[in-house]
Amino acid sequence: MTDRTHLDGVIISRSAAAAIDRFAGRATKASGTEVIGLLFGLPFETVAGERGVWIVHADLAAGQTGSAIHVEMPAEAYGPAWAGCREAWHRLGLDALGRDPLVVGWWHSHPNMHVFMSGTDVDNAQTQFSLPWQVSYVVAPPGPQRAFFGWTDDGLRPDARLPAHVWSGLDSELQWHLREQAACRIWREGVPTW
Ligand SMILES: [Zn+2]
Repeated sequence: MTDRTHLDGVIISRSAAAAIDRFAGRATKASGTEVIGLLFGLPFETVAGERGVWIVHADLAAGQTGSAIHVEMPAEAYGPAWAGCREAWHRLGLDALGRDPLVVGWWHSHPNMHVFMSGTDVDNAQTQFSLPWQVSYVVAPPGPQRAFFGWTDDGLRPDARLPAHVWSGLDSELQWHLREQAACRIWREGVPTW
């Protein structure tokens, strides 16, 4: 058994992190229900060999149904999610990267609880977000707890949390930063297979 994750960390844009807090906070306040959405961005590997994902956009899945302890996202949610993602990609000037965004994971909330990956959460990740660079993000409003979970050689272990940094620069600097920091093979070879 190892808790070594395939990824070394996550970088999430301020706007994506704030959007998730806003979606989850509102739902917790209004009805105490769980909410769910997709994470869009790009996996990267630096020249130093560090692997991670950049998350630049997060949405609130359309047509979702949830309760205080359960939430489901229909397959139809992907259509509007991609539309919103492309709009954000364009707005952030990321078209110039010459790379389309990818679904780099999913997020959901645990209203008035704490952050963990339940058995259902792990099953969900295994069936829908099982690539080694896809992450699961859990927030627990109204508290400050948040955590990213990533894959290890032993699957998704609830104790394998990923270091995460909220991008502190301006969104308008994302394009430059992605190009510089992610100076790696994904730009030339497409989706990584690690
Ligand atoms: Zn959960």
